Amino acid sequence: MKEKKKTVALIAHDNKKHEMVNWALQHKETLEKYALCGTGTTAKLVAEATGLKVKRYLSGPMGGDLQIGAKMSEKAIDKVVFFWDPLQMQPHDPDVKALLRIAVVYDIPIATNRATADLILREDE
Ligand code: PGA
Repeated sequence: MKEKKKTVALIAHDNKKHEMVNWALQHKETLEKYALCGTGTTAKLVAEATGLKVKRYLSGPMGGDLQIGAKMSEKAIDKVVFFWDPLQMQPHDPDVKALLRIAVVYDIPIATNRATADLILREDE
């Protein structure tokens, strides 16, 4: 029987989207092994740049972080790459906190910078 693909969620704040796209291009071969999803704009940019299929949730500030958080609480997301912006306040800061919190509650690997994102993919390379 074919094993179900693990799911990775991708989220990047505006100043970090460039970094997310570069990271996804660098790891395209590994990312192909996963089912991918992400917040609206991040998912769109990664899909366009890599040609990979990325399920799109709402844009982060419009509730996308919360949708992904809900999926995490259902154990439907296995890993998260979340490049948040440490230099700029976000209008949806409470949602950002909720996402980080729920990852801790359910012990879901969540990489918030490139070095850690590289590490959480390594087991599947
Ligand atoms: P976006 O959302 O990918 O739709 O820009 C990211 C965020 O700000 O949480």
